[in-house]
Amino acid sequence: MRTVKAWAATSATDPLTETTIERRDVGEHDVLIEIAYAGICHSDIHTGRSEWGPANYPVVVGHEIAGTVVEVGPGVTKHAVGDRVGVGCMVNSCGECAACLAGNEQYCPKQVGTYNATDVDGTITQGGYSTHVVVTEDFVLRIPEGLALDVAAPLLCAGITTWSPLRRWNVAEGSKVAVVGLGGLGHMAVQLAVALGAEVTVLSQSLKKQEDGLALGATDYRATSDETTFTDLRGQFDLIISTVSAPLDIAEFMSLLRPEGTMVNLGGPPEPFAVPAFSLIAGSKNLAGSLIGGIPATQEMLDFCAEKGIGSQVEVIPAEKVNEAWERVLASDVRYRFVIDAATI
Ligand SMILES: [Zn+2]
Ligand SMILES: [Zn+2]
Repeated sequence: MRTVKAWAATSATDPLTETTIERRDVGEHDVLIEIAYAGICHSDIHTGRSEWGPANYPVVVGHEIAGTVVEVGPGVTKHAVGDRVGVGCMVNSCGECAACLAGNEQYCPKQVGTYNATDVDGTITQGGYSTHVVVTEDFVLRIPEGLALDVAAPLLCAGITTWSPLRRWNVAEGSKVAVVGLGGLGHMAVQLAVALGAEVTVLSQSLKKQEDGLALGATDYRATSDETTFTDLRGQFDLIISTVSAPLDIAEFMSLLRPEGTMVNLGGPPEPFAVPAFSLIAGSKNLAGSLIGGIPATQEMLDFCAEKGIGSQVEVIPAEKVNEAWERVLASDVRYRFVIDAATI
């Protein structure tokens, strides 16, 4: 065992505090990573505050991890000491089921989350708000040269979560895509869709971030609070990606799709959607969801980002600012992702 520094939630209500945790010894197929940066995802807050069920306290969250390999087990073939690597939302799976064999480890019934999950050895996983992590090599991604570690960290969750639907619905040159909400996920969806050749419109509550949206490559930016948006853009889009967790008028959004178009939901509003049947039947439209992405797709996304010069827009903070950062995430006061500098942990 190795004792490492971390910031942990000790209850659903107390602020995160500095602590130490144990990391397992580097096993046959394990990689020890010295963490350089850990992104702050809204899921971290949900888990840390037991909003998605009771957490195992103390819990160290963080599933947008970028760093450098400092030790490898004797059986490791995919990574070497000194490699720049990342870890996302999963750290293990069964490796044998249909989902795993298809590279969709996120659907594996035995998939192990990066934090607050029971690992194969029975221990509870602890995430990236820490100086080091030990992960089995199959769940460690290569971060290509040319992609800085701070801007790469959020790609491990926000990047892959938006990349998956763009690929699944074959977004390419000439596709018309709308992105609902310009936050951590939305700002990645815009950049990735544009780089794939799509014409991208941002649909946001207000025009507050219009300049940013256009700078990220969107060609149009509309306020959903303005009713003319829904009449002007009727029947325009092949794909709508919603990144917001607020309740949405689904029928209004479905009306923006072309026949056979798809609206994919990445946000998790607490209330069920009200979906009028004919908003789907008329035009044979699809309402879908999407869950992160598999390991091969995550590597593909990182390679694509390096090739196209895409990264997350980040605000790097010292660990002692993490509680303040969580409050700012809740207030949507970040452009567009906080990243903890792990050297300050
Ligand atoms: Zn996340
Ligand atoms: Zn499996």
